[in-house]
Parts: sequence; C-alpha cells; structure tokens
Amino acid sequence: MDTQRRTKIVATLGPATDEPSVIADMIKAGLDVARLNFSHGTRESQRRRVEMVREAARDSGRYVGVLADLAGPKIRIESFHEGKVQLAEGAPFTLDTGLDPNAGTATEVGCAYTNLPADVHSGDTLLLSDGQIVLEVENVAGTRISCVVRSGGELSNRKGLNRQGGGISAPALTDKDLGDIRLAAELGIDYLAVSFARDADDMRRAQSELRRWRGDARVVAKIERHEALDNLSSILSVSHAVMVARGDLGVEMGYAELTGLQKTIIRQSLARNRVVITATQMMESMIQNPIPTRAEVSDVANAVLDGTDAVMLSAETATGRYPIKAVQAMAEVIRGAEKYQLGAPRRMGRAEEEFGNTEEAISRAVMYTANHMRVRAIVALTESGMTPLWMSRIRSDIPIYAFTRHEATRQRVTLYRGVYAVPFDLMQLDTGALYSAIFDRLLELGLVDVNDLVILTKGEQSGVSGGTNSLQILRVVRRAAAGAAVS
Ligand code: PGA
Ligand code: MN
Repeated sequence: MDTQRRTKIVATLGPATDEPSVIADMIKAGLDVARLNFSHGTRESQRRRVEMVREAARDSGRYVGVLADLAGPKIRIESFHEGKVQLAEGAPFTLDTGLDPNAGTATEVGCAYTNLPADVHSGDTLLLSDGQIVLEVENVAGTRISCVVRSGGELSNRKGLNRQGGGISAPALTDKDLGDIRLAAELGIDYLAVSFARDADDMRRAQSELRRWRGDARVVAKIERHEALDNLSSILSVSHAVMVARGDLGVEMGYAELTGLQKTIIRQSLARNRVVITATQMMESMIQNPIPTRAEVSDVANAVLDGTDAVMLSAETATGRYPIKAVQAMAEVIRGAEKYQLGAPRRMGRAEEEFGNTEEAISRAVMYTANHMRVRAIVALTESGMTPLWMSRIRSDIPIYAFTRHEATRQRVTLYRGVYAVPFDLMQLDTGALYSAIFDRLLELGLVDVNDLVILTKGEQSGVSGGTNSLQILRVVRRAAAGAAVS
C-alpha cells in the first residue's frame, strides 16, 4: 500500500494498455482508478478491459476503481472526401447540416447536429479540433453556416466542434449514452462520468438510468461547458464527484481562464464534500516521450497543491508510447509536491458552518484531533465509505484507512485523497476482540508500530450504513493486552 502518496491517479485504458502485463505494471506504478473512454472502442472491448483490470487488481492485491466515461453529445463535423483538408486563414468555409456526410471539401463540410444553425449566430466564434482551427460565423441561412477561417491548418474527419462561450444546446445524454449506461451497470463499474453535463437534471437523469439497470456506481459530472459553470452549485448537490475537464472547458471558455477555473472548482467541490478529478493534457508530451516537460511536472504538482483528489491521464496511457512510465512519472511528481505540504498550516476553515449530520460532525472532530496530536493513523469502520470521504475533505498528512467488508466500498475509496482501503469484517467481533483485530491488521500491513496512537471511528451497531457516532483514541498494543484506551 503506497501511503506515501495521497493524491490518486486515474489513467485511461486503450489500445496501448491492452496487454495484461502493461496493466499489471501500471497498477504497480500507482494506478488507482482505470478510466474507460466510451467515445472509443466497442462494447466487447470495454467488457474485456474491465475484466482485465479486475483480474490484474486481484493478482496484485491492490484495489483499483473503474470509471466509465460516457461519450456525451460532443458535436463533430462529418467527413471529407479526401479524409482531410487544409484551411487557410481568411478563406471562406461553410458548415452545412444538409450536406452528404462524406462530401466535405476545402470549402464546406457536413455536421450531423441538425440544430446547429439555430444555436449559432453571425459573429460567433467556432472552434474545431480542440481549438486548433478557429472559424468566425458570417451568416446563417437554412442548413448552411458560412464562416471565415480566422486560424487555419489541417482539418480531418469527425473532429470536435465547440462554440466559444458555450450555448450549443444538445442534451447531455445521447441514445448511445443510454445504451452505455446499461452496459456500465452490467459491468459493475464504480464511477460513471457524464460528459457535457449542463445542470443537475442531466446528472439526475444519468443516475436514474443507472439505477434502472441496478448499477451502483457513483456519478461524476464533467465540468466542460459554460452552462455547467453557471450551475456548478446545483450540479455539486446531486453529484458524488466532478471532473475539471480542461480539454473542452478550455475550448469553450478560452484557455486563459482554465487555471482560475480549476482552483475555483476544486475549492467548491471540497467545501461541498465532493470528490474532484483534474484532467486532460497533464503529461501530454509523454504520448511520445519517456519524460514529462517541466511545465507538465509543474501542472500536475499545482493540481496536487490545489487539493485535487486525483489527477488523470488520457491519451498518455490509452494510445501513448509510454503508458507505464506516464503513471510512474505522475506518482513521482505527486510525492514530490506533497512533501511541500507536510506540516503546512492546517486551517480547518468553515468555522461558521453547521454540520449536516452526526457522521460529518465526527469526521470533522477526527480531523481536528488528528491535525493537533501525534496520531499515526485514522481508522474508519465503514459500510459505504462516507465517513472517510468526509474526513478526506480536510487537508492532513495522516492516512485514513477505510476498514470495510464491502468490495464495492474498497473500490470506491480508491478515488479519495489520502484514503486507503483495508478489507475487514467486524460482524462477529465483540468490542475487546474488535480492537485487537484492528491492531493486528494494522501491524501486519506495517501501517503502525506498537505504542502508536490511532483514531478509530465506528457506530454503535456494526453493519449499519450511516451509523458512525463515536471517535476513540487508542494506543496500539499487541494482542495480549489489546484494547488499552488512552486516558
Ligand atoms: P474528454 O473529456 O477527454 O472525454 O473530452 C475531458 C476533457 O474534455 O478535458
Ligand atoms: Mn471533454
């Protein structure tokens, strides 16, 4: 268990990771959550990848979460007769929702999103291919949107299209997404990410679809459009986690806004007891190179210092040349960055706020205590993982061990900063035996030494979700004298 690193690593699976030994080495290097990108691949390839991760995790004795990322309504141009064209600055170029899908030329191309002419107006800026190509809308007539190329270059088939400032009104869940939610539920994945979520309703809808197919995954809202920022507060209220999806967000908002937005989204997520992933182009040059650039190192480190729960790799692992090295580099950068937070001022913040329930109150009391006393570890006996989630919203150097009998919970907490899963079944234990069983487990995993202080949280009744109502400070002893409370 790598408790030297608190910030978690999400890495995208793809053709470059389809070898079982590659996955195994990525897990060894520090992979915490594997991401399936439903924009690519077949149902069969997704299924195979989930099986491969689950098996590799079992073999390694580690817990790895699985996140399925829906394709969403990414608007794309259709195709070119020649596969690609060159667009010159100042040249006219037309998007036409009525054009044959394969009839694109250097002056026009089709688009399957028939509402596009209603969503854009003259003067708008459209960005193609993640902002590589910039068009300015001159005129909209019928199915045709006439533009001038403001920044040119090569444009190839099925590239993405965004409007600067957002406002393209496609709903977040497409028919393909609905089918993929069912598949995700069948595959028993741990997290479901909703692309281009606009508001709380999009998230509720994804959640109810998931429940309909008996999926137990937690939902992640990808913040990547203008509307999602306007509705961030209500999206947070119905989502378990959010992703700062910097690719599309940077295109819609302008890249100069990204750094500030990242910090704002992370801060608000933590304040609302939500989990947050920072994503896209974190180690982009590692698609080709075995070593990250200094700017990339700095980007990952700054996300860590911002307080993100996890940092994410996309093409670096899915299609890159060095998927294992990318995970290794990320783990190393995280450890390096976290060193500089050790012993940093630990503000508890939010002094005026009221706790929503008993578990949240206990979690805060634990963190206050842990941060002001020489405690080696925090142990939360947990069913759903909620108590460790609340604890981990407060910055601390002390590891939080989620002791749980549920595999789903062990896989879920893989995404929480500073939380590590430990399999533990307390059902048959009376109180005295419980303490010695906890100490034994901590000692056998090498997580504490005899005489260390640990904080334990538990409920009165074991096996009941949401029942945590006590905090105890215990000194670790060997079995013979187990259970010594600190006075
Ligand atoms: P994507 O989402 O990689 O699925 O587009 C992440 C992003 O937009 O940053
Ligand atoms: Mn995106």
